[in-house]
This record gives sequence, C-alpha cells and structure tokens, in this order.
Amino acid sequence: MEQAFFKHIENKLSAKINSITSVSGGDISSAFRIITSDQSFFLKTNTVLNALNMFQTEAEALKTIANTNTISTPKVIDCSKFENISFLLMEFIESKSPSSKDFKTLGKQLAQLHQNTNPYFGLEQDNFIGSLKQSNKPTNSWNLFYVNERLFPQLQLAIQNQLLIESECPSKEQMLNKLEPIFQNIKPSLLHGDLWNGNILISENGSPYLIDPAIYYGDREVDMAMTKLFGGFSNSFYDAYYTIHPITENSAIKTEIYQLYYLLVHLNLFGRSYYNAVITILKKYF
Ligand code: ADP
Repeated sequence: MEQAFFKHIENKLSAKINSITSVSGGDISSAFRIITSDQSFFLKTNTVLNALNMFQTEAEALKTIANTNTISTPKVIDCSKFENISFLLMEFIESKSPSSKDFKTLGKQLAQLHQNTNPYFGLEQDNFIGSLKQSNKPTNSWNLFYVNERLFPQLQLAIQNQLLIESECPSKEQMLNKLEPIFQNIKPSLLHGDLWNGNILISENGSPYLIDPAIYYGDREVDMAMTKLFGGFSNSFYDAYYTIHPITENSAIKTEIYQLYYLLVHLNLFGRSYYNAVITILKKYF
C-alpha cells in the first residue's frame, strides 16, 4: 500500500524519488521530506475522513497569502487523495534558525500582510484551527464575529468535552457587552490565524515563510497575541511590526482576549493542562 502511494507521488512529480524521510513536529498529520534528482518536496498525509477538506483549505490559504506578495508561503504542488490517503504536496523549505535580522524582515512582512483588508470580518469558506473546525461566517461587526464565531463555539465544545462546566462560561450577551467598548476602530485584516513560532520557517537565504495557516479577515492584533502566547519571537520582530502598525489603545486587554481563543482551542485539542490559563482569563474579564 505504502509503496503504491509513493509510486503515485512519483508519477505526480514526474521524477524519480531518491529518498523519503519522516519529518517530525506535526501535531495533526504525518509528514515526509521527498528528494528527487533535482528538488526537495514536503508531503503531508492523513487518513481521517475530513483530511482532504483540511488539506484543500490549507492549500487555498497558502495561495491566498502568497498572492498578497507580502510574505512567502511554500508553493503548493498538489492536493488530492490516493485510495484512503489524503495528501498535500508542496515545496520543501530548507530552513535555519532565525537571526535578529530575519525577525525584523518577518515583522515588516507580517505588517504588510495585515495591510490587506476586506469589507467584512471572516471569510467565504470555513476552515480549521489545528484539526478543529473554524467557522468564518462573514460579519460586519468584529464584536459579533469574535464572540459568535470564535469564543462561543470553543466554549460550547469545552462544555461538551467536559473540560469546562456551564457555570464557568460567560453567556454570549455577557461577552458582547463586555467586549463592545474594548473593540473599537478595528479593521478586517488578512490574518495567518495560527501564528506561533512553529508555523514560521526562515529559508537559508533569510526569507520568512508562513506555514499551516488558518486565515480569515480579523483584527490584526489576533496574530500578534498568538506570537506572544508561546513566545519565540525576538524584539526586532516587534520593533519592525509596531513601526508600521503602532500599538493601539487597549492592546494589552485585547491580547489576553485573543489568547483566550487559542487557549480554548488548546484545551479542546490537548486537554486539561490548559484549564487554569483559560479560567484565569475568563474570571478576569467576564
Ligand atoms: P501539522 O499540520 O501536522 O501540524 P506542519 O505543517 O506543522 O504539520 O508540519 C510539521 C513540521 O514540518 C513543521 O513543524 C515544520 O518544521 C515542517 N514543515 C512544514 N512545512 C514545511 C515545508 N514546506 N518545508 C519544510 N519543512 C516544513
């Protein structure tokens, strides 16, 4: 079976495969580096039922970011299914650990990505955050979008997963009332949507690449909040970014409110170790 699958990939590449090595680091799918006589490719495979849909939205998102001509993404070669194996095949990025100069480039290019705006918050298509569904229903108000499409569904899922109890969770109305005065003058910017430092690659010549996007149009500070949640971004990144988009009013509060979404996602994906961090923010604001 495996042999037939890689034969299929070889046909797709129209080149003989010289080596296949496993790549570690992915939470969701299996990953491989494939080397042919003249190029190196990155292949993700998954056999879960909705994997093809997941890979298709990922491929579309990588192309959407690339089309802004602000920050690079790996070039998508193919996205399809062979028997029960869904796969996403793309350019392999030879990466190095980022220097302060690379982080400066990343900060500048992310700020430029965020200059791509839209008439509404959300996206035409729903997508995924990790393996969880992320609804992107186009909405005119950021407050409504962030509560209805982001916080509320993850809170509901946490209750369903018995990771939170109903009395620990604010109602939609409580969240909307509390956040209304905080969410002022927010524009729908194109976001990466899952910007932790594992989703950045710096190529050997110092070009930043974004991988694993969960794009939509939202407050650009959502991406900045995610960079601060798990860290790993240097001061030169923040200096370069905030030179283009200066820090806004209520930024510290918004950062925690946006981190709450990612913490809820982690609670739902990885379990109770994220409970205390979630409860701390819920108690502080609602
Ligand atoms: P998952 O969706 O399963 O979390 P990732 O897309 O994060 O998988 O990929 C797993 C690892 O493979 C990443 O941590 C990254 O280091 C590496 N990687 C991802 N895409 C590429 C690429 N195009 N070229 C080289 N390495 C990559």
